[in-house]
Amino acid sequence: MTDSNRAMIPLSEPDTSGNEAAYLQQCIDENALSNVCGFVDRFETELAKTTGATQTVAVSSGTSGIHLALSSLGVEHGDLVIVPSFTFIATANAVSLCGATPWLLDIDANSWTLCPKQLEEVLRKHVTHSSSGQPIHNKTGQRIGAIVPVYTLGCPADMDTICALAKQHGIPVVADAAAAIGALYKNAPLAQTAAHLTVLSFNGNKTITTGAGGAVVGQDQEQLALCKHLSTTARSSQSYDHDMAAFNYRMSNLQAAVGCAQLERLDHFLQAKQRHHAFYQVLSEQLKGTSTFPSPAWATPTRWLSGLRLSADLYPDLQPIRDRLRSSGVDARPFWKPLHLQKPYQMAPCEDMPVTDALWPFLLPLPCSVNLSAEDRDYTAQTLQAVLG
Ligand SMILES: *Cc1c(COP(=O)(O)O)cnc(C)c1O
Repeated sequence: MTDSNRAMIPLSEPDTSGNEAAYLQQCIDENALSNVCGFVDRFETELAKTTGATQTVAVSSGTSGIHLALSSLGVEHGDLVIVPSFTFIATANAVSLCGATPWLLDIDANSWTLCPKQLEEVLRKHVTHSSSGQPIHNKTGQRIGAIVPVYTLGCPADMDTICALAKQHGIPVVADAAAAIGALYKNAPLAQTAAHLTVLSFNGNKTITTGAGGAVVGQDQEQLALCKHLSTTARSSQSYDHDMAAFNYRMSNLQAAVGCAQLERLDHFLQAKQRHHAFYQVLSEQLKGTSTFPSPAWATPTRWLSGLRLSADLYPDLQPIRDRLRSSGVDARPFWKPLHLQKPYQMAPCEDMPVTDALWPFLLPLPCSVNLSAEDRDYTAQTLQAVLG
């Protein structure tokens, strides 16, 4: 199987073979690089259609988008923000940027997203309301500033249940849908859940990319107008009056130019990703002790990343498997290490993590670029069969 002269099949790389170059050239020709130029507006308009939003705010990254969304909803220094431990570290970093601390919860075994049962339990047991109605964490006396469900691997969380609990306790919800463009929740597009705001990322490895970039989307025009204001230094007049301490988080015209070209081909990208997932699904049925990523009843997940979950009994250590795949020319990497095991968040309040702990070491992401060829996918399957068999 081993072929050391083979180029490594990448995990996921962007496809920029559409209008990306032409639109970038247009930016240069018009000397229009900053964030007040045409492609930013156009990108926001197109993204609103894609996500079913009334308004969108294009920003410099997913991390800055989550920070912006949380700040606009009043999350501040000293607050706790509920997040699942099983996420990319950026979710928690955005909480830290607010001066807040993440309160780490487990995920649910059927969706790998924030566990509503545990959420209900911890809110009931550990949160009381102050005389002014603020939700307060009993042990630390900290206010609960927000809940951030994460759409893990492109799969929306159980939003109706989570948002109902949040509403009951007067806590705002920001959905981290960083990698979920194209996903549906109960057949509705991303911006049409009960979350106050939803955040996307267009980092280099996501389904569509702007190099680095992100967006805040939603239904609440006033809230989104505040996000836009905060993202552009909260300028309130032409004569350099600024009415709040704010950010410089706006997406640039160069990024938006790439984003417009990428969005034009979103359907094609999403279909390619679904085909890879279906291929690995069939493969997993042939490989003992493997399964693919979940599809809970409420979600139509987008498959920005494909891969397998390996049985802990049959494959107690994935590192030798990853090493053999890589030496055969198939890029295989570990998946997110959860937040409760990360140095900056080891001291954060944390609930029991049975599902997260039993899951993350056994995930094997596999090549799933939009333009992954059928030959490379077959080669990946054969290599896996040889390595696991
Ligand atoms: C990619 C990602 C982010 C961060 O987005 P950036 O654009 O890289 O800042 C946040 N959360 C999740 C779940 C992600 O996958």
